[in-house]
Amino acid sequence: MHKPYRGRFAPSPTGDLHLGSLLSAVASYLQARKYQGQWLIRIEDIDPPREVHGSAAGILKDLKALGMQADEDVGYQSHNTAAYQQALASLLSSGKAFRCGCSRKQLKNDPVYPGNCRKLQLDACAVRLKAATRQLTVIDQLQKSREYALAEDIGDFIIWRADDLPAYQLAVVVDDAAMGITEVVRGCDLQGSTPRQLYLQECLGLPHPDYLHIPLLTDKSGRKLSKRDNDDPLNQLQPLAAIRLALRLLGQQPPPEISDLNKLWEWAIVHWQASNIPLQFPTSSIRGLGC
Ligand code: GLU
Repeated sequence: MHKPYRGRFAPSPTGDLHLGSLLSAVASYLQARKYQGQWLIRIEDIDPPREVHGSAAGILKDLKALGMQADEDVGYQSHNTAAYQQALASLLSSGKAFRCGCSRKQLKNDPVYPGNCRKLQLDACAVRLKAATRQLTVIDQLQKSREYALAEDIGDFIIWRADDLPAYQLAVVVDDAAMGITEVVRGCDLQGSTPRQLYLQECLGLPHPDYLHIPLLTDKSGRKLSKRDNDDPLNQLQPLAAIRLALRLLGQQPPPEISDLNKLWEWAIVHWQASNIPLQFPTSSIRGLGC
């Protein structure tokens, strides 16, 4: 028997909810609803230098207004430092990770870490996971599967930062396992993180969730639409129109006569087909999608 489905939306509190992150929220929410599973929210607030005051509360308020509420209490990564430290300690003591004193400047010409500190016993704060010499296949529920040569394509990567903060890769893996996540639905900008996370799960003896990466929303010049974009269409839309736009971008075809947010969600849960999500979003048509 399959494990009950558990999905999540994991925004970093670095600005307002924007259309790009709304798409990840809607896709992950509908996958969870479709499989009668649970949908959880985790605020990824482990990077104080990038955090924007009030952003977490704003994102949660917007999600609620848009009709999406988590099935359990909202999680905050800033509360989980002890679990990250424990995972780090186990990777260091088993020799799977090493402390690294290299500066960014030193490595600026190396796309893959050259291994400088692998054999040294430093007491630097930054820690890298040792990439084994082997292949790893990433299976995506939507995108093409991809093969990676861990050592050559990825190399030893940072799991603890020089400023003594847990790195995103470690925190995500520890939390996805602790929350029992069975499928990660998120944007393609994080596709390159997935082989790192699969490898970290293996090193920590944690289960692998499935992965589904939705395409990135870009502006007319092909740039990723970000939280800093003032022309984010989400700013001008009422909840019903925002969810309708998100559904249409995600390849669903809600009937135009639905004029109530709850009814639109009811329709979406019944009709949701992840396989209809396009592999790429049209760049120029965001504004013309009937909002
Ligand atoms: N916190 C990340 C973001 O806001 C998402 C992380 C994830 O879904 O794994 O881009």
